Amino acid sequence: MIRNRLHQYITFLFIILCSALGVGAKEYEVKDVPNVHVADRTRFLSNPDGLISVQAQTIADSIMSDVWNKTTAEVTAVAVESIGDKDANQFATELFEEWKIGKKDRDNGVLVLIVNDTHDIVIRTGYGAEGPLPDITAGRIIRDYMIPAFRQNGLDAGLLSGLSMVHDVLTDPAVAQELKSSIPNDKAVKKDESFSRMISDLIQFGCYLAIVMLVVVLVVSLVAKKQPWQTRYKTLSSLSMWTAITTVLGLGIPVLAFLWAKKLLKNVRNEAPRCTLCGSKMSQLPPNEATAFLTPQQATESRIRSMNHTVWRCPKDGNISVRSFHGPAYNNYTRCDSCGAHALHLNRSYITRKPTQFHTGERMDEYVCEHCGKIIRRPHTIAKLIPPVILGRFGGGRGFGGGGGFSGGSFGGGSTGGGGASGRW
Ligand SMILES: [Zn+2]
Ligand SMILES: [Zn+2]
Repeated sequence: MIRNRLHQYITFLFIILCSALGVGAKEYEVKDVPNVHVADRTRFLSNPDGLISVQAQTIADSIMSDVWNKTTAEVTAVAVESIGDKDANQFATELFEEWKIGKKDRDNGVLVLIVNDTHDIVIRTGYGAEGPLPDITAGRIIRDYMIPAFRQNGLDAGLLSGLSMVHDVLTDPAVAQELKSSIPNDKAVKKDESFSRMISDLIQFGCYLAIVMLVVVLVVSLVAKKQPWQTRYKTLSSLSMWTAITTVLGLGIPVLAFLWAKKLLKNVRNEAPRCTLCGSKMSQLPPNEATAFLTPQQATESRIRSMNHTVWRCPKDGNISVRSFHGPAYNNYTRCDSCGAHALHLNRSYITRKPTQFHTGERMDEYVCEHCGKIIRRPHTIAKLIPPVILGRFGGGRGFGGGGGFSGGSFGGGSTGGGGASGRW
């Protein structure tokens, strides 16, 4: 069990790393879809590509949570960018069986699958959910509610309209007896144990990360030794960024790897270069003398601390060398295309077109260069609003959830006979 959960954390970490690098594990296999309910019992929507907005994610989780609390039926939803050329219907059935959605005695599970690149929608039901939610009803929900909402209002609205219809069908008092399982929610997880087990899993995960990162820092530092200083500086900068990220993910346990990477980075900054003329070690000029050797752009960058320019002089022949590093305020600025200084910063943002539920909006970001004063404006699209019909009913955030959000859940061991329906928007 613990190894299984550890595997999930690593998969989760891997997805974060991949999406941060922009490579993205975009084509999902059944076993790659993160089972979010197992990590947090109040969550039912697996949204690994971030297709659904944070606000809509919260609403979706509370809709499904409400069904779960009222009926014990397990509704879960998955929104992924792509499953490659696999068949969405088959994928939904396999995922349903893999996660064992629904209580074993009633098979009251429902899976809603959204695949963005092919516009596929699948509603898969367990045997016991086919009574209240027969294929014909599932088909009507897709055809009459989801497809129009997807086409007119986008992903958030499409998914939420489907989930709220499924909610209404399953929470109808007339079908309560049929759906109600004798197995309580989260039977597989003993609630009093789940919190401490979560903590011990996290600590174990942190230790694992710490060891991995120490090895990574060791290997990278050996490789970097042979690189010219500019490349070595870049390598160690990204190394220190990754060790910082893993330190946060690993509850601070991998901090040694982070400090080590920081130290290596500092060594590059302080390392005296060799003179290109005579080969002797150069010495660093104090800031007041150094300014005379900087370009106007470099002087501005030093002043605003976006870059840190160090000036070195050969004691024998007076040869000068400038080495440039990222300053403490590096990330507050970007490069100005006009003058080349790393001195462009966000001055103000304003809405030029408000979003509605039918149209996207637009925000204008205005940047100013601290060196040459050039002003650049960049427009950004703002997502459509979620229709008020859905917001009004389910917008109360986690009101339905009940119970802490930190403890893991489980599905009840259900299976499907392939019931449900599918369509495309
Ligand atoms: Zn020299
Ligand atoms: Zn400029």
